[in-house]
Amino acid sequence: MNWKRELQINDIAPEQILEFTCKQCASVYHQKAEQLQKHNELRFLWLDEIEKDAKCKQRLCYGDIRLSMCHDSANSGFVAGLA
Ligand SMILES: [Zn+2]
Repeated sequence: MNWKRELQINDIAPEQILEFTCKQCASVYHQKAEQLQKHNELRFLWLDEIEKDAKCKQRLCYGDIRLSMCHDSANSGFVAGLA
């Protein structure tokens, strides 16, 4: 069961943050879904295709990427429980 196979860029909320993690050097970068949705050629790609196409932004690394969804931590339960 792979959720990345079931979601297209266009299915995600624009404010959803996607997290790209390099499998080689572990560098992480984030991108909002709306940034990808602006590109017509990306909008109907499945997330696993995005993941496959993505490469590490470090020039010398250029490693494969693991894509994940970043959960909005602004209202996360951790903090609320301490109030
Ligand atoms: Zn890398």
